[in-house]
Amino acid sequence: MKRKIGVLSLGGTISMREASSGGIVPTLSGEELLEQFGVADPCLEVSVLSLRSLASAQLKVTDLLELAAKARELAPDVDGIVVTQGTDTIEETAFALDLWGPCDVPVVVTGAMRHPDAPGSDGAANFRDSIMAVSCESLVGLGAVVVMDGELHAARYVTKRHTATVRAFGSSPSGILGWVKEGSVDVLVDGLRPQLSSFALPCPRSHLPEVAVLKSWVGDDGRLASKLPEMGYAGVVVEGMGGGHVHPRAAESLEALCREMPVVISTRVVGSHVLRNTYGFIGSEIDLHRRGVMLGGWLTTGKLHLLMTAVLGTTPPSDYDFRQALQPFGGG
Ligand code: ASP
Repeated sequence: MKRKIGVLSLGGTISMREASSGGIVPTLSGEELLEQFGVADPCLEVSVLSLRSLASAQLKVTDLLELAAKARELAPDVDGIVVTQGTDTIEETAFALDLWGPCDVPVVVTGAMRHPDAPGSDGAANFRDSIMAVSCESLVGLGAVVVMDGELHAARYVTKRHTATVRAFGSSPSGILGWVKEGSVDVLVDGLRPQLSSFALPCPRSHLPEVAVLKSWVGDDGRLASKLPEMGYAGVVVEGMGGGHVHPRAAESLEALCREMPVVISTRVVGSHVLRNTYGFIGSEIDLHRRGVMLGGWLTTGKLHLLMTAVLGTTPPSDYDFRQALQPFGGG
C-alpha cells in the first residue's frame, strides 16, 4: 500500500519568482511546487493544500495556529506532513507545530534559500529530502523537525544563522538531529527523544492574547516597557544582554511591569542561555528574578514569544502556568 504524505504550503523563497516590479515574491502554489519538484519514491502518494502565499515575515501567529489545526486535522489520514514556507520564520513555525500540532505523525518544515529559478536552487532537494524524512517512522516522537541542506533540526533548537547561504541553519544548545543522505534518513540522537516530543497543547481561545517583544539596549531607560499595559499587551519577552541583563532603569520598569503581566527575559547571545545564579548587580539575572521577571533558559526570543502566547491563550489560562512551561527549556 502507498504511504500518504500531506503537504501544506505557505509561500517563502521556495515558491518565489521574479516580479515585474522587481525582486522575487511568492508565486507558486503548493500544487505547482509538487509539479516542479516531483517526488522520487513511486510508493508515496502526495496530496497538497495551499494555505497561504506569503513571505514568512508576513505570517501572523493566527496563521500558525491555523496551520497547526490543519496539520492535526490531516494527521489521522496521512503518514507524514511537510510544510513549505519562508526560512525567515521557519523556526517559529516549527516551534508552533511543536506546541499546537499533531504528535503522532512526523512533521517537517522546509523552505529554500535560493528561489526555483536561481542557479543552484536548493528548493527541490529540500522538498524531496523532507518528503523522504516524513515517510520515515523514526521521526515520530522528535517533535516538529526542520529539514534544510540535508540536515534535520529539532524545532526547539533550530535557528537561522545566515541570510543568504544555503547552509543557513544551526541547532543549539544541542546539535542537529541527523541527516537525510543517500536516499535514507539517519536519526543520530535517540537519547534526546524524551525531551523532544511535541506539547500538543490545546488550541488557544478564539481571542489570542498579544505578547510583545522588546530588545534591551545600552542605557535603556525602561520607558518603552512601561507603555505596554496601556497598549493592551498581555505579556512581554525582553531580550537582554549577556546572561539576561538590562540597564538598572529598565530593571525598575520591568519590576513594575511584573505586577501587570508576565515578563520573561531572554538573551541576545546567539546559541546561548540566560544565567540563573551568577551576577548580583542591579539589572542582572539574579536581580531581575527577585523582581519577578522569569528566566527564559535557552529558548530564543521568538520561541519564548510563541510559548507565552500559547500558555496565556489556553482556556482557562491558569490551567497551565508559564513558569512551569519554561522548565523543559532550562528557564522558570
Ligand atoms: N528569505 C526568505 C526565505 O528564505 C523569505 C521568507 O522567509 O519568506 O524564504
